[in-house]
Amino acid sequence: MPAGKVSVIGIGPGLTDHMTAKASEALEESDVVIGYRLYVEQVRNLLGRQEIIASSMGKEVERCRLAVDKAGEGKKVALVSGGDPGIYGMSGLLLQLAGEKAPDLDVEIIPGVTAAGAAAALLGAPLMHDFAVISLSDLLTPWELIEKRLEAAAGADFVIVLYNPRSRGRSDLLSRAREIILKHRQGSTPVGIVRGAGRDNQKKWETTLQGLTALIEVVDMASLVIIGNSQTYWDGSKMITPRGYQV
Ligand code: SAH
Repeated sequence: MPAGKVSVIGIGPGLTDHMTAKASEALEESDVVIGYRLYVEQVRNLLGRQEIIASSMGKEVERCRLAVDKAGEGKKVALVSGGDPGIYGMSGLLLQLAGEKAPDLDVEIIPGVTAAGAAAALLGAPLMHDFAVISLSDLLTPWELIEKRLEAAAGADFVIVLYNPRSRGRSDLLSRAREIILKHRQGSTPVGIVRGAGRDNQKKWETTLQGLTALIEVVDMASLVIIGNSQTYWDGSKMITPRGYQV
């Protein structure tokens, strides 16, 4: 029996032109493609002979188990993950499971363009200085810990990137995050919102911490919120965090 393998593939934030050549190659070479339905749809135009197993959100553990099992049968499995698989993606869970059930399994992790990079590029250059990435999803992390990290990042003047800004559809989490950050930052601090970066329905908003209240409702689960540090400014529609060069 040929040796199986799991490739955890970062498919980037949206359309396939944001994927790396390495990711498309691994997809093409695979026998089985496993992933969350939306991500499988995202790469369907690259698939041909592969067996496709698409499942719903929340089935992460099942997907990883299946990937390990199929690889155990000698298949080349592509486990697709949005953006970068190692950033709130499938890499960790797959490695944990493989470590327990199939320690000799060949696992390859293929990085992808994460939402922060894609959104930053659309907004301008907001991540030119130190930044902190915080997920507002309290499904697997207690909200108290999320607040503690928001407080620390805001206090240390990091640019802050918020993933999962609408956890469980709740807009009050983002409002609460805004209040915490406002304890340390001016209301005029630039805030950029990007929805569906790299997708057909991509959209962005330029605002400030003060103005964010009026835009809370546009922020959904496919959005990313970037909050500037004390030096960040809007130059027209470009959000810029200076690195310190003299220009
Ligand atoms: N592994 C992914 C992140 C998964 S967490 C990555 O590296 O990008 C899911 C969250 O990522 C979403 O709630 C949203 O905040 C963000 N996200 C993913 N794709 C996005 C996109 N195309 N545009 C904006 N935000 C996105």
